Amino acid sequence: MRGLVFDRQLGGQPTLRLARDLAVASPPPGEVRIRTTLAGICNTDLEILRGYHGFEGVLGHEFVGVVDEAEDPAWVGRRVVGEISASCRECPTCRAGRYTHCPTRTTLGILNRDGVLADSFCLPACNLHLLPEDLPDEAAVFTEPLAAACQVLEQVHLRPTDRVLVLGDGKLGLLVAQVVALTGCDLTAIGRHPEKLAILSARGIATQLDGDRVEGNADLVIECTGQAAGFRRARGLLRPRGTLVLKSTYHGLVEADLSRLVVDEIQVTGSRCGPFAPAIRLLAQGLVDVLPLVEAEFPLDEAIAAMDHAQRRGALKILVRP
Ligand SMILES: [Zn+2]
Ligand SMILES: [Zn+2]
Repeated sequence: MRGLVFDRQLGGQPTLRLARDLAVASPPPGEVRIRTTLAGICNTDLEILRGYHGFEGVLGHEFVGVVDEAEDPAWVGRRVVGEISASCRECPTCRAGRYTHCPTRTTLGILNRDGVLADSFCLPACNLHLLPEDLPDEAAVFTEPLAAACQVLEQVHLRPTDRVLVLGDGKLGLLVAQVVALTGCDLTAIGRHPEKLAILSARGIATQLDGDRVEGNADLVIECTGQAAGFRRARGLLRPRGTLVLKSTYHGLVEADLSRLVVDEIQVTGSRCGPFAPAIRLLAQGLVDVLPLVEAEFPLDEAIAAMDHAQRRGALKILVRP
């Protein structure tokens, strides 16, 4: 089968290649094999090419697919999305319900597990979520990043009276802003691309171009710029005792004045994967608008070109269809 592989051949530097001779995996106990019908390219995939996590293998974690092999025949032929981390379900962390933090977890296309930018891949059956029939693949493929946006509401008590800034108008920022807007809070999304901010304005969300004078003193700033410089920018827009939510993952370190965080008593929350069920409900009910985020679609045979396109400055969601 085919797969977009990032690996090291003959001891050289890892490189990206479209393999055509990958073995079709037999699902291990508890897992199913899924035929990818549509996949999305995420910033994390691009960061992996820069060395993030030191991952080597098949890339990709955002998918819609159809189960084609499973122990339980009820799964076969079902259209699904799936949570991306496979956890042991036995260790103290898992028993406490914190599956996404299992110390021996593997994660699709990110950590010790081949990803979804391939004809097929394996995932534990307990990770799967069935999709409503009338939800098209092009919307459902946003479930994983939308779940990550919903995670902010899992973690932070966001009051409808709060003044909230979402910093960054990339793929994740546009989803986070739409989710946060549903609370009725006083939200402004800040970005650098008028055409992307227009996607939010069309839904009645206030937007502002970064560089225009942005009023700071916010109760909550959600950093979604995907860049190390975003931390400092976000911090500068907070009031004392405000909350800073960090959504960006990137390869590299940030220099930060931690004493100022102490003096201003800033609460910092890292925020990663989120709950799939609410994300599917939001998509099914049309409460968020994801289709305008699709920039282009490529066949799997052109996955390298798809990655190149995704790396263009300001590119929105690139989809890959096996
Ligand atoms: Zn992602
Ligand atoms: Zn565990």
